[in-house]
Amino acid sequence: MKYIQEFRDPEKAKFLLQGIEHLTQQLNATAEKPIRLMEVCGGHTHTIFKFGLEELLPRGIDLIHGPGCPVCVLPMNRVDDCVSIAEREDVILTTFGDAMRVPGSHKSLLQAKAAGQDIRMVYSPMDALQLARNNPEHNVVFFGLGFETTMPSTAFTVLQAKAEQIPNFFLFCNHITIIPTLRAILADSDLRLDGFIGPGHVSMIIGTEGYDFIASEHRKPFVVAGFEPLDILQSVWMLLKQFEEQRCEVENQYRRVVPTQGNLAAQQAMDQVFQLREQFEWRGLGSIPESGVEMRPEFVDFDAEKVFAVRDVPVVDPAECQCGEVLKGRLKPWQCQVFGKSCTPDNPIGALMVSSEGACAAYYNYGSRWREQAEVEATL
Ligand code: SF4
Repeated sequence: MKYIQEFRDPEKAKFLLQGIEHLTQQLNATAEKPIRLMEVCGGHTHTIFKFGLEELLPRGIDLIHGPGCPVCVLPMNRVDDCVSIAEREDVILTTFGDAMRVPGSHKSLLQAKAAGQDIRMVYSPMDALQLARNNPEHNVVFFGLGFETTMPSTAFTVLQAKAEQIPNFFLFCNHITIIPTLRAILADSDLRLDGFIGPGHVSMIIGTEGYDFIASEHRKPFVVAGFEPLDILQSVWMLLKQFEEQRCEVENQYRRVVPTQGNLAAQQAMDQVFQLREQFEWRGLGSIPESGVEMRPEFVDFDAEKVFAVRDVPVVDPAECQCGEVLKGRLKPWQCQVFGKSCTPDNPIGALMVSSEGACAAYYNYGSRWREQAEVEATL
């Protein structure tokens, strides 16, 4: 516990906030002309709201909540395909808890489970593999999703299944990869960002060197950050310091966990099992080249997408859903027309309301509203 408390020390937070305030003034950043920083990772979004950091930062800092929650960016057609696999009589469908609540165009996996399908929550893909060993008369499909954070455990599981020649284990692969996603964000000319709070968990696997192009080609500072409140505040301070000193670099605030080279064994396993897809569809962001992975041909016997011939037909989001605008930082969650009305964590219309790492769920659960809204309401 002591270890955690050190990263939540109020005195150190005050000290960092004073430094951030000072630098914000030095940089002439105001509410009208703020410095816009995107936290890429959903885990950071969660920390920011849970600890009320957005409310503590000066008005000249605008945090943009990026597309780093893999549950939130999963398009509806992939959920539909997963439900259709689960509806086969011979299938036990397994996945993580959050993924079960993502709405498809007709139903979520949770609703399919309520309708009688054999859908089970697991804590790791190895649990799904064990289920396959225990149920040889069923086909056990693992619905795998997530960035490089979760991809290695899926890869190791597939390698294990192949080594043991387990014929009834399959992966429905929806893993996505961070670097092409960042390239797509930076290529969007409408998006004005000044810097990035970089993902901690993904970087633990891929290291920090892959982000160099963001500083060298796009001239945006990038600080890989940890997940405690002081980590986030220190990262904001480090970004502002770069602006003040007119530097533009990739820095690693999370050195206690993230090695520069990442985790080589995990990278090797991922390379062995997965290859880049030409395109992958993201909810709210459209199709992004090489942003998803699929299983290599030598693992085709374990590939649910091939074995069960999923349809993969794109589905348009509901008209009232403004998740795409929120993901791109053009709207704050509370500005969505259905936020907190017809779209709530109990009844999500959009994916950003599903996972605790989604920006809409974080705003809703922690009662945060953007300060400008509070001020507008106060004058009414
Ligand atoms: S309130 Fe619901 S529909 Fe609107 S952006 Fe958030 S998740 Fe999407």
